[in-house]
Amino acid sequence: GGKAYSMMLRCRIPGGRLTSDQLVAHLDMCDELGNSTLKITTRQTLQLHGILKSDLREVIKRVNECGLSSLAACGDVNRNIMCCPAKRVGPIHAQLEQFTDELTTALAPQTPAYHELWITDPDTGEKSLADGGEPNSSSNPVIDEPLYGPTYLPRKFKVGIALPEDNCIDIYTQDLGFIAVVRDEKIIGYNVTVGGGMGRTPSAKKTFPALAKRMAFVTPEQAIDVAKAVIIVQRDNGNRSDRKVARMKYLIADWGIERFRSEVETVFGEKLADCTEDDVHGFDDHMGWQAQGDGKWSYGLNVENGRLYDNEKTQFKTAFRKICAEFNREIRFTGHQSIIFCDIEEGEKDRLIEIIREHGIPTTEQTSTVRRWSMSCVALPTCGLAITESERRLPSLIDSIEEPLAKLGLSGERFTIRMTGCPNGCARPYNADLALVGKAVGKYTLFTGGGWLGNRLAEIYKDAVKDDEVVDEMIGLFAAFKANREGTESFGDFCARVGVEKLAELAEAAPRP
Ligand code: SF4
Repeated sequence: GGKAYSMMLRCRIPGGRLTSDQLVAHLDMCDELGNSTLKITTRQTLQLHGILKSDLREVIKRVNECGLSSLAACGDVNRNIMCCPAKRVGPIHAQLEQFTDELTTALAPQTPAYHELWITDPDTGEKSLADGGEPNSSSNPVIDEPLYGPTYLPRKFKVGIALPEDNCIDIYTQDLGFIAVVRDEKIIGYNVTVGGGMGRTPSAKKTFPALAKRMAFVTPEQAIDVAKAVIIVQRDNGNRSDRKVARMKYLIADWGIERFRSEVETVFGEKLADCTEDDVHGFDDHMGWQAQGDGKWSYGLNVENGRLYDNEKTQFKTAFRKICAEFNREIRFTGHQSIIFCDIEEGEKDRLIEIIREHGIPTTEQTSTVRRWSMSCVALPTCGLAITESERRLPSLIDSIEEPLAKLGLSGERFTIRMTGCPNGCARPYNADLALVGKAVGKYTLFTGGGWLGNRLAEIYKDAVKDDEVVDEMIGLFAAFKANREGTESFGDFCARVGVEKLAELAEAAPRP
């Protein structure tokens, strides 16, 4: 036989909302057809790893049969749309969720190829499509793809929708963002942001991470057509000769936001209003018990690096199967790779926690703040681009800094630590308070000075730090923070205020715990 190619399959789960049955279907697939683990991603969806090429068809069929899809979860199209996953009664969250779903449909490729290739039975030509949606029957790709055209986009495209008080989906890292503008308990429109993006290529100086820029205010009626106009401007003007600089952020850096906006207005067909003052000013990770407003509760459980597995000590898969079977409620994923169990009655709270604890899973209340606010990309062994360890390394790094942080009296401090196995930045390192980015074998670039709010870029603090020196570097930074902090400023604010050069001096001088 030939080589046993193994694949990753990523689903599309808009806003991270799914049913218990859908989660169980994926747990079954990871056991039966994958590497027996499941990853909750940083974009609120699921990845199955280690799928044999010969099983790919079966997996995609089963994903569709449970009512989800993998269409446009990868590739040079709009990816999974992120939205605040909190379950709340009331018009604001209903509007957000409806907008997320409508935008997902509006920005989906129209190609019949996905269904022809993966869903239609090759022998009978019969469709086993469970989620409806007759595939387009025309075979002219230009007519079939009014939005993407025959060549799709120059590069991947990411969209997020946030509330000002809750930037849990990291709006400024998205190619296209919508910040809800709320008046009298109603979303009257969105401030649109454009041109965020994390990826960079260290060998190419022309590449850089960028935060999105605020472009214009749109009403809910304008929002979808403006999204399409933004995509069309990028489709027709983004760089198609060099993939390294093909993301929309480079087009905007090249043109400036004024020209970009006016091109969008031309495609859209009318002038847009300026942004209102509304901007992100909070971030809720939705962990622990939160009231939904209907008498029921949501429980956010921290899943370290989003990895679901069973081993002797910890059994995520068994616990989640049990919870799904007993409760059968709605599930949501956060942008920090964690899970929310929704619609829990007051009288059921203890039972949920009992199941979690019986399976060796630390509850959110038992998890340190630093661990709760950390995240890692996949990296080794399954990501082909990884240069260094990340997901397998971060838990032990956190182990090593929990005690020093406690000794410094900083256990309660909220700051983001994000780690990636290469500069591609899948775990959004470049706006974190502290980030470790794989640089060379066993070496990381340390970034400081972003922040949990996500609206400031981090700077390179030290480059090519050896793996066994990383913990010491981090403790030095925390000690410097403890000794030199002004008032209640956050760790990231402190690092940004003093700057990387001074920070190195302060870290050198600060008394260690
Ligand atoms: Fe892979 Fe790099 Fe993305 Fe990590 S950041 S998952 S190593 S591509």
